[in-house]
Amino acid sequence: MSASPSPLLQVENLTKYYPYQPGVLRSSRVWIKALDGVSFTIQPGEVLGLVGESGCGKTTLARSLVRLVEPTSGRILFQGENILERPVSLMKGVYRDMQMVFQDPYSSLHPKQMVIDLVGEGLRIHRLARKRELRDRVLEVLELVGLHQDHLYRFPHEFSGGQRQRIAIARALILRPKFLILDEPTSALDVSVQAQILNLLKRLRRELGLTYLFISHDLSVIEHMSDRVGVMYLGHLVELGKREALFRRPLHPYAQILLQAIPVPDPDRIPPRISLTGEVPSPIDPPAGCPFHPRCPLTVDRCREEIPRWQEIEAEHWVACHLATEGGKTG
Ligand code: SF4
Repeated sequence: MSASPSPLLQVENLTKYYPYQPGVLRSSRVWIKALDGVSFTIQPGEVLGLVGESGCGKTTLARSLVRLVEPTSGRILFQGENILERPVSLMKGVYRDMQMVFQDPYSSLHPKQMVIDLVGEGLRIHRLARKRELRDRVLEVLELVGLHQDHLYRFPHEFSGGQRQRIAIARALILRPKFLILDEPTSALDVSVQAQILNLLKRLRRELGLTYLFISHDLSVIEHMSDRVGVMYLGHLVELGKREALFRRPLHPYAQILLQAIPVPDPDRIPPRISLTGEVPSPIDPPAGCPFHPRCPLTVDRCREEIPRWQEIEAEHWVACHLATEGGKTG
């Protein structure tokens, strides 16, 4: 039996706490727990989808991976190296292989730079090409994302939202990275354009052998794009599994509730039994025990006191819920 390859990315117990002063009269400082002990791996060539409501920590996680946000603790092993031990000034070497595409193509591109400069910036920074060669390499990557020569000397305001996101993807690809972090790459786009960008990302993955961390609040998009799926809630990863297993038989009550919101005619899917109540608690003062217990319809006394263990319930299917048992039952 062949051993599984080393993960391209391994995230271990990652936390990000922000200090917060509740008021001028209160001297004690509290912590906003944006990420609280998140662990997962991504294998070369894999797409890991990450889903959860707004404010669950998805974007903090994405930004932590590229050190736009400095984690409080934990390890990020990329190609075997803990990149948190690198001085931020030396992250440039990591960015050759790891790039990020942001949600909003309107604000992620400098409005006064032409496409050739926006896309070619990485080549300049890394001193990999100049002049004619730089132009040729920019054109090559523009054609890869469905743009062409006429676009080289235009400014971002001359493009539609979908074209701008293509430029942002070209900019991320210019150094031929192995790994892309895609943070809600289609949620700022018109519905009609979203499918085009998703299909482009699928094709690029196939043709270039890319690995993705694909972040979205939209489960249909996550299902379309991912090999495995992680579900986040209030800074915690609460479930992680292969796409088919997670969509057919979600184990965590929160994942079950999220899934029932997508109308898909699949007779094999377990019908919803429970519904979501209340608001997402504040990360300033997260609940004790299971972070989901104030909204969970299956809460028992233990849930209010004890943090559920992260356990592998079936092969490659992990969940943090006291009531999840082997065989995939919750409750
Ligand atoms: Fe619900 Fe308890 Fe499971 Fe948390 S541990 S998801 S509160 S049943």
